[in-house]
Amino acid sequence: MKYSRRKFITTLGKGSALLMLPAVPKFPEKLLNENKKSVKSDKRLGIALVGLGNYATGQLAPALQETSNCYLSGIVTGTPAKAERWKRQYNIPDNNIYNYENFDKIADNKSIDVVYVVLPNSMHREYTIRAAKAGKHVFCEKPMALSSKECQEMIDACKKAGVRLFIGYRLHTEPHHKAAMKFRSDGESGIIYVQSEFAFKIGDPNQWRLKKALAGGGPMMDLGIYAIQAARYSIGEEPLSVTAQQYKTDYQKFSEVEESVTWQMKFPGGHVSNSYTSYMTPANCLYIGTDRRWFNLKNAYSYRGITGSTNSGELDLPQINQQAVQMDTFSQCIFDGSESDASGEEGLKDLKVIEAVYRAMESGNIEKV
Ligand code: NAD
Repeated sequence: MKYSRRKFITTLGKGSALLMLPAVPKFPEKLLNENKKSVKSDKRLGIALVGLGNYATGQLAPALQETSNCYLSGIVTGTPAKAERWKRQYNIPDNNIYNYENFDKIADNKSIDVVYVVLPNSMHREYTIRAAKAGKHVFCEKPMALSSKECQEMIDACKKAGVRLFIGYRLHTEPHHKAAMKFRSDGESGIIYVQSEFAFKIGDPNQWRLKKALAGGGPMMDLGIYAIQAARYSIGEEPLSVTAQQYKTDYQKFSEVEESVTWQMKFPGGHVSNSYTSYMTPANCLYIGTDRRWFNLKNAYSYRGITGSTNSGELDLPQINQQAVQMDTFSQCIFDGSESDASGEEGLKDLKVIEAVYRAMESGNIEKV
């Protein structure tokens, strides 16, 4: 479905005013004066995608044909044949095409404002820091890095370089998830229970997602992070402690990483969540309940086709191009210097929870986050 800016704004109302932008946004005086890394006001931001795998090819590059605040200006790839294909398909000039060896020369390229890191998880830290050193703003895919320590190093590097850092949380700008974030503020005072599950069956046993050194872990890092996010923003608090249990049926395929995990989180207000992730048995839902009301999403974490209902009836919310809205929103934050709820600090919070889940999985105890 086409990205319908007007429909999205109308539905979401005031909270989404950020998205109602002129095609060519102005860069505010305030930021120029603060000597932050700036972009010219008379152009859209040029984005270079690093790592032309499934997500960059199937989602991000097509979404960049729909964006208003940014466009695909460059690529970084280790495969010359891919470079040739992308160059022709997206009309990318030769001097905006880099490989992993000459990547740092991107510092001299004025038509690239943002580096979007879409590499295996273990490479997020390195390429975020190298991009920051090159003076580029960074969009980095989730999970932000392999550990909270790495996340902090990335945050520090971007601060030092005066560039912005955003994590690819595409659901923060998605209407159904915006509604989940509002559930509690709609007058909820009782205990909230959240059930969040995201899992799919993984095929190729040789892919990087099953190698601990490249992925950092299994479905917890890749999919469980969505369930953590949903519980955190539905409840509106940070979890205090977790318990966790893992299950394995295919010991060969999952020799390095976990196969399936259930975990429970306790929140300061007494709220609780129960979550599930797996690379074996699929699941994809978000349920929020109290003694008075409930809210339910199906296909909750999919790129499209999210549907929802509540105790008052079906949700009638638009389907959007999640990646286009995400990248336009991040770009707008760069233009006007506004805060983002998908910052590096947000990515760090998730890694701290994930680390606690892994500790709890091993110890069998309640682990503090
Ligand atoms: P992928 O395997 O399809 O692509 C990875 C890319 O990295 C490939 O182009 C590959 O050539 C390149 N690469 C460079 N060095 C590599 C190495 N040493 N080993 C393997 N590949 C190497 O993966 P993907 O599905 O595109 O995922 C990339 C990142 O994007 C991951 O961090 C993933 O979590 C994230 N992602 C996010 C979403 C989302 O909805 N936000 C969806 C999918 C993937």
